[in-house]
Amino acid sequence: MIINLLGTGGADGVPGFYADSRVSRYAMEHGGKDVRTRTAAIVDGHLKLDLGPETLTQMTREGLWIRDWSALIFTHGHDDHFAPAEIQYALFPFTSHECLPFTIYANPQVSARIWGQYPDWPLDVVVTHSFQPFPHGEYVITPIHANHKEDEDSQNILIQDETSTLLYGTDTGIWPDETWAFLEDYAVDVLVLECSEGFRGTAYHGHLDVYDCIRVVERLRRMGVLREESRVVTTHHAHTGDGLHHELEAALNPHGIEVGFDGMTLEF
Ligand SMILES: [Zn+2]
Ligand SMILES: [Zn+2]
Repeated sequence: MIINLLGTGGADGVPGFYADSRVSRYAMEHGGKDVRTRTAAIVDGHLKLDLGPETLTQMTREGLWIRDWSALIFTHGHDDHFAPAEIQYALFPFTSHECLPFTIYANPQVSARIWGQYPDWPLDVVVTHSFQPFPHGEYVITPIHANHKEDEDSQNILIQDETSTLLYGTDTGIWPDETWAFLEDYAVDVLVLECSEGFRGTAYHGHLDVYDCIRVVERLRRMGVLREESRVVTTHHAHTGDGLHHELEAALNPHGIEVGFDGMTLEF
């Protein structure tokens, strides 16, 4: 399995959309790994995770074709992950397709918003529920419940093929007990975990800072969900967390956690 981190920034990206923060200024001056577009990823070149406002730019930057998508899997309905206006461009008259050429998987709330925006369009939307696995081609995909957006079934995503297991944990907060219990049966090869709040934790329950991130990873190691050879990579870094890429590495690398960046690719 290959995961490509198309974007690793928080809701307003880095540099922040209208921000004058230290991290934003550094990103403007130095570029490189400190520039972060809105969080999204793609697995094996065709399982797309979330549809943020920078999707076309991200895919083009990586030399990947949107026409290769077989699935678009939504984690939740926040605007940095859910830009439904983009869906229209996959269909007639922008293309020759009269039916959407990939399947959309989304929780009940996000599905309802898609149907609301495209009431008469031939979209293949499958409603997903946390802890209910579904097949897609050679994969088994299992959403798990995240502690993030209260008014919907916010999901992190387990993706398994014959040999590998990925857990994509963007926008998660500290999981509720039922999610920890569910994960006990899994062995994860690669965990992508958000670290939105960096060194500046806030009162908002729905995101992790550096210290939360380390605690979550250590608990997963104690449970055996993560083994010695498993890789852990961060994503969803907000400029308000006040962590430059190398500063985050200094804090997280000693705990066996790699800091993700736009364009990072992991093969496992
Ligand atoms: Zn987000
Ligand atoms: Zn969110």
